Amino acid sequence: MSFESLGLLPELLRAVQESGYETPTPVQAQAIPEILAGRDILAGAQTGTGKTAGFTLPLLHRLQANASSMQGRAPRALILVPTRELAVQVGESVRTYGKYLRLFSQAIFGGVSINPQIDALRRGTDILIATPGRLLDHVQQRTADLRHIEILVLDEADRMLDMGFINDIRRIIKLLPAKRQNLMFSATYSEDIRGLAERLLTNPVSIEVARRNAPVDAVAQSAYFIAKEQKRALLSHLIRSGEWPQVLIFNRTKHGANRLQKQLEEDGITAGAIHGNKSQAARTKALTDFKEGRIVALVATEVAARGLDIDQLPYVVNYELPNVPEDYVHRIGRTGRAGATGIAVSLVSPDESGLLRDIERVLRRAIERVTVPAISTPSPSARIVRASPPVQQQRPAQNARRWGSPGAGQSGQRRRA
Ligand code: AMP
Repeated sequence: MSFESLGLLPELLRAVQESGYETPTPVQAQAIPEILAGRDILAGAQTGTGKTAGFTLPLLHRLQANASSMQGRAPRALILVPTRELAVQVGESVRTYGKYLRLFSQAIFGGVSINPQIDALRRGTDILIATPGRLLDHVQQRTADLRHIEILVLDEADRMLDMGFINDIRRIIKLLPAKRQNLMFSATYSEDIRGLAERLLTNPVSIEVARRNAPVDAVAQSAYFIAKEQKRALLSHLIRSGEWPQVLIFNRTKHGANRLQKQLEEDGITAGAIHGNKSQAARTKALTDFKEGRIVALVATEVAARGLDIDQLPYVVNYELPNVPEDYVHRIGRTGRAGATGIAVSLVSPDESGLLRDIERVLRRAIERVTVPAISTPSPSARIVRASPPVQQQRPAQNARRWGSPGAGQSGQRRRA
């Protein structure tokens, strides 16, 4: 299967080629022909599967091919996303893939001044990428006109529902023309998602690229049992001794994320934090520093990290396990993306062992337990830590990367797909 055989415009094929993609990913191979044919789609695809290009490429194709339907410069496609970061990322993808077409796009999201967005909308745009709340602000101020939308995309629909956007989404849908194409992407299927799909989609094609609620197979997963107060020392040790070049660390609370960032820096590890209490400028800076290698560790809360697209992220750490097992799947989906191998490490304190069991039940497999290594560190706060309970013979922590994943035995360098 090649991109050429999918029937996309030459301008899009050129952009795809420049992105370095050789073959379509499974979700792209399945979704692109159906979307080009005008069908509604319900796709069960996690982040990292190439889903963004899977809907962006055919969406651009259809808008371009149907240019005669243009109504002034009112938007003809609306991509709804749960977070600001995802809006920025999807906006970048639209620009990248559409660079040889004369279509305009605009990302609109909260946390930043609304005025530049109003100016941009006045100038006109073909594709709107928006978070629901800010989009409704624009609708209220009559700066966004949704009457000419031909294609609606709900990206990470499950996360939008988790974040309480259902009423906003309903209000937005009411503002759209009845006749339109609908594309819905969700990593998991809850009752609510099914209900939304039934209301929204007409005779949809279902696309499933990974087993439901299953992590991408390319991720080697392991868990350390460790007391809460020893987690920080273990984490610093793993990063330093394994020479991890880049690690995304999940924390449950904003306060905890800030504290851990400071502690890592005290341990000599460059770190940033990303969560809802940070300004948009601070979040963007932390993400850029992380992507460009100026910091090794990015500490994030669940919501802030949603949908982050970081090329070939090698390590993900669950500093605290999520309360909802499906969130574990989302989290480790940050690594092992688009064919690259990844390592997901969980630090599990005794009070979290029930959560780990729940996760294993959802995964339908056991996560490898690793014995906590002896830690020798110059930092007085990072003294010897021991496994509780001891599980198996002690091994160097960096062995974790050898397990369960082909090609995962390389040194701790960033991997290229
Ligand atoms: P997504 O699932 O949309 O977040 O995409 C995950 C990553 O896969 C992004 O970094 C894309 O640049 C990359 N990607 C998308 N399509 C392909 C492809 N056909 N071949 C290789 N990489 C891809």
